Amino acid sequence: MVERIDNVIETDGALVLGAGIAGLFTALRLAPFPALVLAGSRPGTSGASAWAQGGIAASMGEGDDWQSHATDTIAAGAGLCDPTIVELVAREAPNRIEDLLRLGAPFDRNRDGSLALGREAAHSRARIVHVRGDRAGAEISRTIAARAAQTPSIKLLEGFHAVELAVEDGRVTGLFARHGSGPDARLVLFRARAVVLATGGLGALYAVTTNPMESRGEGLGMAARAGALIADPEFVQFHPTAIDIGRDPAPLATEALRGEGAVLINERGERFMAAVHADAELAPRDIVARALHRQIAAGHKTFLDCRAAIGASFAERFPTVYAACIDAGIDPAFQPIPVAAAAHYHMGGIASDERGRSSLSGLWVAGECAATGLHGANRLASNSLLEGLVFGARVAGDIKASEQRGAARGTPPAPAPAGAPAPPHVLRKAMSLQVGLERDAKGLGAALETVDRLERATHDPALLNMLAAARLVAAGALARTESRGGHWRHDFPLAGKTAARSFMTLTDARAIEQVAGRRRVGP
Ligand SMILES: Cc1cc2nc3c(=O)[nH]c(=O)nc-3n(C[C@H](O)[C@H](O)[C@H](O)COP(=O)(O)OP(=O)(O)OC[C@H]3O[C@@H](n4cnc5c(N)ncnc54)[C@H](O)[C@@H]3O)c2cc1C
Repeated sequence: MVERIDNVIETDGALVLGAGIAGLFTALRLAPFPALVLAGSRPGTSGASAWAQGGIAASMGEGDDWQSHATDTIAAGAGLCDPTIVELVAREAPNRIEDLLRLGAPFDRNRDGSLALGREAAHSRARIVHVRGDRAGAEISRTIAARAAQTPSIKLLEGFHAVELAVEDGRVTGLFARHGSGPDARLVLFRARAVVLATGGLGALYAVTTNPMESRGEGLGMAARAGALIADPEFVQFHPTAIDIGRDPAPLATEALRGEGAVLINERGERFMAAVHADAELAPRDIVARALHRQIAAGHKTFLDCRAAIGASFAERFPTVYAACIDAGIDPAFQPIPVAAAAHYHMGGIASDERGRSSLSGLWVAGECAATGLHGANRLASNSLLEGLVFGARVAGDIKASEQRGAARGTPPAPAPAGAPAPPHVLRKAMSLQVGLERDAKGLGAALETVDRLERATHDPALLNMLAAARLVAAGALARTESRGGHWRHDFPLAGKTAARSFMTLTDARAIEQVAGRRRVGP
């Protein structure tokens, strides 16, 4: 069964799906080349971008340089960063911050007018530009959305839920999106000379996450279902300090708090990180997250203690975190904040080259849904907004210069009817328990069986996109028989001798499950 196409909207320019930092910045850099930006929610508050707290990494401080930023990025990536990509991102970072300043981003400044730079875990220097303490994402998103709205070449459309890419003669020529729900729902075919996916991450596929519910891996799933090559899907970063007050999604206590000296303790007041890593609370995220997870598994409760390091200045310096704590009846100036690890960032994504091109002709990718090779097996804090900016600019440059921009010809087949499904609870639970911080073959096999079962029971393309994304993460984790960066396996606790990125299509992911299944059953 297919759905009726109610409307066809054509643009002679680019179609950008997603109005987070990557989508909006791409559109701004495309100007005056026309860009039609589609998003599920309102630009300016849309996506994870508006929720970012810490800020953006760039080597702009005295004594800092791009080489040092690159070295820290590569160290965090546990052997899987692409050094060419790391170099270009670290080199271009200061220019992208200058772009944001020109657009009006209100970065915090020192008394002498220079940019105030914060320090975060695994950065060897203070190099994080921030806004009003922990409001970087909200303020930058607001600023660039307002600029986009004033730019004549950009058209912003919100409330559209994209469900499938339109592919004609092997080329992506547009996408299908629904507007509204119930009997008033309309299916629109958008067609464009270039299509950009900037759909963010997939944290909301997990039961415990810091991501907004719109971060459900749908862009990744859509591209994978159209045959795109996916890279490093198994690498998911878990943030150690999600505020554990039973909210879904869980509010975040930014890493900058630990940068300021806040410590992790258990219910006995014992600091446990010093025994785990030389950098204690500022160790790489995966190490801190697993240490916390193990404390909880051993029956402890875990807290972030900001009393000595931040104390009475908390409300003024970290207003977002403060508000979330007060909402839950905790005053972080005087009480430790209960924290737990939560799915936070997807290092993997749609494989992209240095111009932001995917493996599908006509399809570019930017931001968290892309895998450029910057993050390797573990993202360095505050490198993701940066990646969205650097690749947003690169995608825009490539589209403007590209000879590839061909017009669409026929009418591609419409997708099956879609609802507006949330990821099923059973899927989110399986992802958290079996594809989470600690994994093994048995759990990953069981998670893939859950995905199979849900897939057999639906034709809804939106749900199929989420399931494809979940399948890729679980299959990638099953195929990676080692522990590295954000990916840790009970049954393979050591890193392998050689480090290699993973690249796979959705067909490959299915084959991984079949081979593993045959091994479980035996010959
Ligand atoms: C709480 C939190 C704090 C963070 N702090 C930092 C930080 O300090 N520094 C840092 O560098 N990174 C941080 N990150 C990570 C960073 O925010 C994200 O990686 C980044 O914002 C992703 O930007 P994006 O433009 O790729 O996607 P997003 O900002 O997530 O935007 C995705 C867009 O795609 C749209 N979309 C998705 N699917 C569909 C669909 N099917 N149909 C229509 N529209 C769709 C959404 O509506 C949205 O507009 C943080 C993340 C979280 C959750």
